[in-house]
Amino acid sequence: MKQFRRHKEDFVCEHCGAKVKGNGYTNHCPDCLWSKHVDVMPGDRAEDCKGLMKPIEVKSTRDGYVITHQCEKCGAIKRNKAAENDNFEVILALAKNQVDKLKH
Ligand SMILES: [Zn+2]
Ligand SMILES: [Zn+2]
Repeated sequence: MKQFRRHKEDFVCEHCGAKVKGNGYTNHCPDCLWSKHVDVMPGDRAEDCKGLMKPIEVKSTRDGYVITHQCEKCGAIKRNKAAENDNFEVILALAKNQVDKLKH
């Protein structure tokens, strides 16, 4: 099993411009929840794509919320746990979209 490598790095969100303080686990913007395609394995930053990853779905699990991101460049899909400081309104809005989809 590969070890999870921590990278403490601050970054500026390329989607909304928010300044994000990295804590080593943060891989998405807490304000808009967009992510960037930089990992092959979580935390390794070995991916060359560097496309922006759009939050397309939020699921509530017993471990908390899980956000599904899709890369706008290559279409890759990744699931990430929501962080404690994520914008809860955005999470709820995403979760709601999902509910609306189910109705139709
Ligand atoms: Zn953002
Ligand atoms: Zn990609």
